[in-house]
Amino acid sequence: MASDFSCPACGSKRSSRWATSIDYNQAASKEEFSYRKCVACGTVYIEKVPADISKHYPTRYSQYRFFRKGVGEAEVMALEREKISKVLKALGNDVKGKKILDVGSGQGGFMAECKNAGMEPFGNEFSPDGAKKCREFGEVEQGDFLKSHFNREFFDAITFWHSLEHLPNAFAATSKAHSLLKPGGLLFIAVPNPESLQGRLFKRFWAHLDAPRHLILVPPMELSKRLGEQGFRTTSIDQFMNDYNAWGIGMSVLNLLHLRSGMSGEGNPALKALGRVIFTIPAVAESLVGKGGTYLLVAKKV
Ligand SMILES: [Zn+2]
Repeated sequence: MASDFSCPACGSKRSSRWATSIDYNQAASKEEFSYRKCVACGTVYIEKVPADISKHYPTRYSQYRFFRKGVGEAEVMALEREKISKVLKALGNDVKGKKILDVGSGQGGFMAECKNAGMEPFGNEFSPDGAKKCREFGEVEQGDFLKSHFNREFFDAITFWHSLEHLPNAFAATSKAHSLLKPGGLLFIAVPNPESLQGRLFKRFWAHLDAPRHLILVPPMELSKRLGEQGFRTTSIDQFMNDYNAWGIGMSVLNLLHLRSGMSGEGNPALKALGRVIFTIPAVAESLVGKGGTYLLVAKKV
């Protein structure tokens, strides 16, 4: 089972082919992308990172995430509210003036929520258009997070809301986050769970596989272990990110039935609301048995 591939989480060369998928979520190309699963730690990773990954991020990629004249607005707002409530729960009541960095800040939806809560938000965003939008809410560095110039030991909290799995060197990014956090600062990482029931069931059709943009999907215990080696202590692993998890099941069903065509924020709002209700039930069920579609890990810099 030894192969030419080595696991980007634990380094093991033992792996097997997990799935071969196409870009169901954005339909930016018709290419196939293969993923492996590490035998040692369960991490799922892409065999070959596409040379020009930016061509797999169509212009609409970030647009659907935020305010396009009502399209998808309710969904995005619900998601941002879910995120901020989790952060406030972990940070405690007194968040006024706290410095928080959102890595992969998209179009600034979460930064806006942080600002509303009285925090001082900062952003890092790869897309120039996204970074421009984010600057409405705080200071933003555009480009590669690993090359960003934020001050060391500056932040009270750093968040990766479904951005870590997009980075070619995810653990260099968490190490950088460690250097930017104040001692005792909190790291929030929300990512898909390769051990989830929806991941195992849908595999190549799994919407959270998001080929080829997702490069690495790390199981919660393995992520916690690797972060421990970098000087973090995991304080919680929350499998009830209900909006992400219900979306994962709903979109995977559509992928399986070949009912999608690079859509994301489009569609009949009433049908979407109904879908959210229907798919929340299995999403909560898989979380209850510890196999949620995505998870939020919170870790403290020690
Ligand atoms: Zn591994």
